[in-house]
Amino acid sequence: MKFLSIASLLTVGTVLFLFTTANSQSIKNTTMDTQSKAPVQPQGTVTKTEQEWKEQLTPAQFRIARKHGTEAPNDNVYKEFKQQGDGSYYCVCCGSHLFDSETKFDSGSGWPSFYKPANEKNIKTTDDFSAGLKRSEVLCNTCDAHLGHVFGGEGYNTPTDLRYCINGTVLTFVGETK
Ligand SMILES: [Zn+2]
Repeated sequence: MKFLSIASLLTVGTVLFLFTTANSQSIKNTTMDTQSKAPVQPQGTVTKTEQEWKEQLTPAQFRIARKHGTEAPNDNVYKEFKQQGDGSYYCVCCGSHLFDSETKFDSGSGWPSFYKPANEKNIKTTDDFSAGLKRSEVLCNTCDAHLGHVFGGEGYNTPTDLRYCINGTVLTFVGETK
């Protein structure tokens, strides 16, 4: 009996390990969705089936937003992000307003970084113990999309000393029209 439970624990452990390893492979050749008009803001939570998300999103967007994936650092999407002018960033899944260009900063991490959300109530955080360390995961509060992680106290010269480390792949950028 004891042997069996250890064996089953090991099996669960192996499956979890394989899952984590498969999921931790970063996604390359990413791009950011860009629109000319701000999306209509969702009222209340947005819930869709896995199939509906698959139909709406690109494979990269789906893997990151719905399956907790990560884009490769310094990838195409990050180059786009660095070149973007003033504007706002929305959830690619539900259109919720997440970040503004005024709070962008260059963290040197290779991922889009913001020091605060556009609206605190559009974001939620949860403890994430994957990758063998405790991190604070950032999710869209409207549709539960995985956006990235938030780190604090790193000493960046920003008003909050917070770094919202966000996958650009799951954002929609709308530039400001001058
Ligand atoms: Zn969303």
